[in-house]
Amino acid sequence: METPENNKTRFGFGLTKGRQIDYDANDKKLCRFVVENEPSLLLCIGCGGCTATCTAAGFTDFNFRKLHHLLRRGEVFNLEKSMKNCMLCGKCKLVCPRGVNTRNVIFSLKRAFKMTDFSKTQ
Ligand code: SF4
Ligand code: SF4
Repeated sequence: METPENNKTRFGFGLTKGRQIDYDANDKKLCRFVVENEPSLLLCIGCGGCTATCTAAGFTDFNFRKLHHLLRRGEVFNLEKSMKNCMLCGKCKLVCPRGVNTRNVIFSLKRAFKMTDFSKTQ
């Protein structure tokens, strides 16, 4: 709740509701499933090399880096639709400086969305 006291520590500025990320309220079940299947995802440093070389990104708005951020935040609402653009070619995996098996990350996600547990969250 906004009080004169905490408003002072925020210097009068605040984030509007639409720009806030509520990590505690978001569902990170899907992220845990993917990391269990492909633990190398935790090595990602967000450099964007995968997105820069992505075949699908050349002609769609598919973006692995963004997908990863949304997955980690638990904002998974539009991921299934977005992933349909990935053709699992594996180019992203070849360029990753951290050795993240990006292809298997996407493959795990595609598998997850076929399971009733996760399709309910969509
Ligand atoms: S290239 Fe690898 S380290 Fe860089 S953003 Fe992609 S997955 Fe992460
Ligand atoms: S596997 Fe998917 S994300 Fe990776 S380069 Fe190919 S189309 Fe892009």
